[in-house]
Amino acid sequence: MIHAVAVLGGGIAGAAAALRLAQGGLRPVWIAADRRDTFKPGEHLSAAAIPLLKTLGSDAMLRSEVHRHAHSTYSAWGSETLIQRNAISQIEGAPIVLDRGAFEDALSAQAIAAGAEKMERDVVDLRITDGHWRLDTGETCIEANFVFDATGRKAIVASKFSPRFQADKLSCQYAVFSSSDREEPRPVTLIEAEERGWWYMSVLADRRVVVNFYSDADLPGFDSTELDANARRTKVISAYLSDYGYGSSGHPTRITTNSSWIAPAIGAGWVAIGDASAAFDPLSSHGMTTALWSAIQAADAFVAQDRQKMQAYAENVASGVQDYLTARCHVYSCEKRWANSLFWARRHSNSAKGPEASA
Ligand SMILES: Cc1cc2nc3c(=O)[nH]c(=O)nc-3n(C[C@H](O)[C@H](O)[C@H](O)COP(=O)(O)OP(=O)(O)OC[C@H]3O[C@@H](n4cnc5c(N)ncnc54)[C@H](O)[C@@H]3O)c2cc1C
Repeated sequence: MIHAVAVLGGGIAGAAAALRLAQGGLRPVWIAADRRDTFKPGEHLSAAAIPLLKTLGSDAMLRSEVHRHAHSTYSAWGSETLIQRNAISQIEGAPIVLDRGAFEDALSAQAIAAGAEKMERDVVDLRITDGHWRLDTGETCIEANFVFDATGRKAIVASKFSPRFQADKLSCQYAVFSSSDREEPRPVTLIEAEERGWWYMSVLADRRVVVNFYSDADLPGFDSTELDANARRTKVISAYLSDYGYGSSGHPTRITTNSSWIAPAIGAGWVAIGDASAAFDPLSSHGMTTALWSAIQAADAFVAQDRQKMQAYAENVASGVQDYLTARCHVYSCEKRWANSLFWARRHSNSAKGPEASA
């Protein structure tokens, strides 16, 4: 049997595309391995995502008590002074701190209930034969006329056909910290710039905190496994961790967080969505929103079998990337304290000349 459409990837983009295609009357085959046991970083859902979730009929899932409306965000960026970014000053409204696993599970369940046929596998090989895709999961071979590539930064389909551009080498080390203190931690998100990069700490919905350090993957010292010890050398985050008795319980995980994108994001028989099409610096807190937006746009174009709409989708991805790069330059240019730091110098030269992308 040759399926009309296959969706590859079990993150937010894949789940939203499978759901939207099913809502459009199709029965997509959705190839997405189960990764429920793995902690997935990235919990701040921008309020801009709420209209998208309404479009999907998924906004009610945000009312679950496992998520909560975001607390205050403070940043020491550009100076040592901690500035509050009050939810009230964010035009689009307060973000939501997600239990990421619960959110992705709920979206997945909705997609299956709507008619998506989920196969909990990875695609290990793919090729085009006789004008259609053959997607090998190692156990079975799925055939489909069209694929949605929602495999995140790997972009297993799109990267075969379109160049991927990269604006920087940003990488992240993160670990989840816990505390046995009984005192309820003040629910905050803290962002703190330092000479080698920047720190992020956020209280999760279950009271643990996630601590992330961002720097360029090729800079000395970034390979360190001393995330906990280095976090203690920060000013603001270390004070918070000490006040509430937080300590890390495991080794930090390292993950790529560079700004990168595919151009064009569509090709013959495929479309890239979510991080597979464009992956942003987590400072933007917009990755999940973009994943939802791109899934809806591309799925609607596919359901309508509207080539112009699909072309417009690719153009919107490209122009969105340019807008994002401009905003990113502006944000990094606000931090000028470390003139001799390669991390900041790279970003300042980008802001002066405009971003340099390499394919
Ligand atoms: C440290 C960090 C912090 C972040 N913080 C935020 C934040 O606060 N707010 C925000 O909005 N965004 C944040 N993001 C970005 C956000 O997490 C991503 O933009 C979002 O997850 C993109 O969703 P996606 O579905 O496109 O990709 P992913 O979530 O990466 O999902 C891709 C899926 O494809 C699967 N896959 C890969 N290869 C195959 C294969 N061969 N076959 C089948 N499946 C495959 C993967 O297993 C995965 O399930 C953060 C990212 C990082 C790394």
